[in-house]
Amino acid sequence: MAKKVLVLGELREGILRNVSFEAIAAGKKIAAGGEVTAVLIGKSVKDQANELFQYGADRVVVVEDDQLEHYTPDGYSQAFMAVVNQEEPEGIVFGHTALGKDLSPKIANKMSAGLISDVTAIEEVNGEFTFTRPIYSGKAFEKVVSTEEPLMITIRPNNIDSLVKDASKTGNAETMTVEIKDLRTIVKEVVTKASEGVDLSEAKVIVAGGRGVKSAEGFEPLKELADVLGGAVGASRGACDADYCDYSLQIGQTGKVVTPDLYIACGISGAIQHMAGMSNSKVIVAINKDPEATIFNVADYGIVGDLFEVVPLLTEEFKKI
Ligand code: FAD
Repeated sequence: MAKKVLVLGELREGILRNVSFEAIAAGKKIAAGGEVTAVLIGKSVKDQANELFQYGADRVVVVEDDQLEHYTPDGYSQAFMAVVNQEEPEGIVFGHTALGKDLSPKIANKMSAGLISDVTAIEEVNGEFTFTRPIYSGKAFEKVVSTEEPLMITIRPNNIDSLVKDASKTGNAETMTVEIKDLRTIVKEVVTKASEGVDLSEAKVIVAGGRGVKSAEGFEPLKELADVLGGAVGASRGACDADYCDYSLQIGQTGKVVTPDLYIACGISGAIQHMAGMSNSKVIVAINKDPEATIFNVADYGIVGDLFEVVPLLTEEFKKI
């Protein structure tokens, strides 16, 4: 049966994150021919609506307010719930991002609805949707169905393909006025670390370094390889703890969960806590001088060798392509 579905258009520093477009594609699937409405929340964000139309949103509802300039749980919940009350959706899709992970349970609670989080695939059989999600830190996958409406899910970035962008498409975003009040949290200032290059959680290629990189300078060859491949640099907690790089690069159970097309692990042993964050990558290449390293158990391609020899060789070869 056709459903009305809401998806959150998530912005970072004023730019729509790719997961928003993936959420539209997921929304289209569960809407089964019904209407997908993207919700944009923030301060002066209406200009971003066009891209949501271009990626397949049927409608875009915008809630703008000075108090929504930065994400706060109660500000965004008030804005999103106002749209929910107006639209009465049968389905809601968020990205499984820091923001989505924070906001979605609040919305589910307010609606007394269930929430299927961290969805990596959606299948439809005879009108019933089955959602695949990792469990036990990514060691296994479960398939679940929802028995009630609204059906609310969060999707893991980089797992569900967005629709092909149609740059010729335009639409009229609808503005909704919502009185944002009694905020218990007010963001006074956002201090960001200057990040270089591609956003780690949305990168298609990640070159990650572990304690085997041995120093901050040891990350340089990895950065060169990542640059040539148009990718991002990541790290194990071992490398972060040793102060070779910033914790914002940490991948794993207590770091970021990533699903790039290509993950190149350099000098990383493959501890379960690290693999929880990267084992669903589409292709994994491991470079380690220890042939017994656990990382080889999940690697599609393993190179036993010294990363300081192997990584520059790879960079040179990729430069030729
Ligand atoms: P090591 O285990 O020391 O491995 C270094 C590897 O480099 C070795 O395999 C070695 O053979 C190889 N090597 C050395 N020199 C070279 C060379 N020249 N060329 C090639 N290979 C070389 N870890 C995470 O990564 N992410 C998390 O989110 C995380 N969360 C945690 C949460 C908890 C509660 C706990 C208890 C631990 C967590 N950890 C996490 C830590 C985790 O258990 C490991 O300690 C950590 O992942 C090890 O990092 P590593 O592989 O870089 O270091």
